[in-house]
Amino acid sequence: MSFYEKYKEEFKEYDMMDKDFIDDEKIWGQLNKWEKPSKADVRAVLDKAEKKVRLDPEEMAILIQNKDRDTIEEMCALANKLKREVYGDRIVFFAPLYISNKCANNCKYCGFRRENRLVERKTLSLDEIEEEVRVMISEGQKRTVLVYGESPETDIDFICESIKRVYSTKVGNGEIRRANINCAPLSRDELKKLKEVGIGTYQVFQETYHHKTYQEVHPHGTIKSHYRWRLYSQDRAQDAGVDDVAIGALFGLYDWRFEAMGLLYHTIHLEEKYNGVGPHTISFPRIEPAIGTPFASNPRYAVSDEDFKKLVAVLRLSVPYTGLILTARERPEVRREVIPVGVTQIDAGTRIGVGGYKKSKGNLLPEKEQFQIGDTRSLDDVVRETCEMDNIPSFCTACYRAGRTGEDFMDAAKSSFVHNFCMPNAILTLKEYLLDYATPETKGAGEKAIEKCMKGIEDDNIRSFLQESMKRLEAGERDIRL
Ligand code: SAM
Ligand code: SF4
Repeated sequence: MSFYEKYKEEFKEYDMMDKDFIDDEKIWGQLNKWEKPSKADVRAVLDKAEKKVRLDPEEMAILIQNKDRDTIEEMCALANKLKREVYGDRIVFFAPLYISNKCANNCKYCGFRRENRLVERKTLSLDEIEEEVRVMISEGQKRTVLVYGESPETDIDFICESIKRVYSTKVGNGEIRRANINCAPLSRDELKKLKEVGIGTYQVFQETYHHKTYQEVHPHGTIKSHYRWRLYSQDRAQDAGVDDVAIGALFGLYDWRFEAMGLLYHTIHLEEKYNGVGPHTISFPRIEPAIGTPFASNPRYAVSDEDFKKLVAVLRLSVPYTGLILTARERPEVRREVIPVGVTQIDAGTRIGVGGYKKSKGNLLPEKEQFQIGDTRSLDDVVRETCEMDNIPSFCTACYRAGRTGEDFMDAAKSSFVHNFCMPNAILTLKEYLLDYATPETKGAGEKAIEKCMKGIEDDNIRSFLQESMKRLEAGERDIRL
């Protein structure tokens, strides 16, 4: 059965709508209205952002359109401050696991697209998934996002089996404690199955919010060409009980300013419909070159490094309680520059070739990859650098395992919970990493970062809990969390 036939009935729900929540003209109207904001306009928005409230689209438009160097610096400084206040000095670490590069779609920018003859196709078997996971665990990973093409081989039952295999794999003291999913849009019934096997976040990137561009890059006749089926993926997930959802856009397909507004409108739509629960995270990948994919080497709307940093600051200021994910698509120097303006999650030690953890040398496996990554450093190197940049790498998975997701998570994020729970959990998971996986240099940098962080903990009870827990970890206990 083709994908069209499979979802035909459900498409009707969207085909019957006269409009969706992305109004292209309105977005351009707002951006054009604020083509040249004054310093005072920008500072008025920054005053509101400082109160840590979600901004409105026109306010975001003012920040996006600001071209004045002084106030851009003020934007970056405030973004950094908000990030530290809301999330503490933590950066959450994960690594993707590519399960299959077989795909029925033909997205012009993607190395996995059906017509690309240069990619060697492969779907991992359950045993091969386990082999990959064993390598990831032995490198110290605790969180993953499983990535799939859209193919009958990776239907919902296979996806569920693959998740179960990931969770059941143990090596020494380690295991994957949270598996997020990045796969094609699913139906509500399929999403209920995902809920049952205990996924973390369900991610679907809209790629571009601009309707016309969407049709141009997703050829007619492919399932992915259905804009609204994708746009309402997170709604269906929420309806099915998966309340931890993520959105994203692929930057370079259309004007970055429009896409940023699209991400905000998507956030507002979800918040309004689901009791204030917006996306858990936002991703903002830039298109990277991919084998056999000329479109990806020269994107028409390529975003410069300077605009990219501004984009991240704008997102941080506009959605203060939403996690921001910066991937290893970006080169180390870009990551160093951009992380401080508001990033909360990064991947490291990443290999994106299917079967790449086991096989690749120096992290590369071009003929099986969706695109080329920019940061090929090991997890250990990135952990060390993060500690040296005064951040605490966190491998924490406590909230999701304690059922603090959706509305509960949002309430927690908006209180002092982060400082009382997330920081201690970050310290304990970093300590585990240092004991089990770190090189001596990283261990040194990590211990220093922990020592510094402990000095900043004001609550005596939390400090003594941490001191005692770290001794228990040194004695061999694992997975201590609040
Ligand atoms: N096939 C599913 C889908 O399209 O939603 C799932 C995963 S796809 C492998 C993951 C994401 O990779 C896509 O949503 C897209 O944003 C991104 N991507 C595709 N081609 C890319 C490229 N050349 N450079 C960077 N990111 C790319
Ligand atoms: Fe397939 Fe996703 Fe790549 Fe499109 S982006 S070709 S759907 S893997």
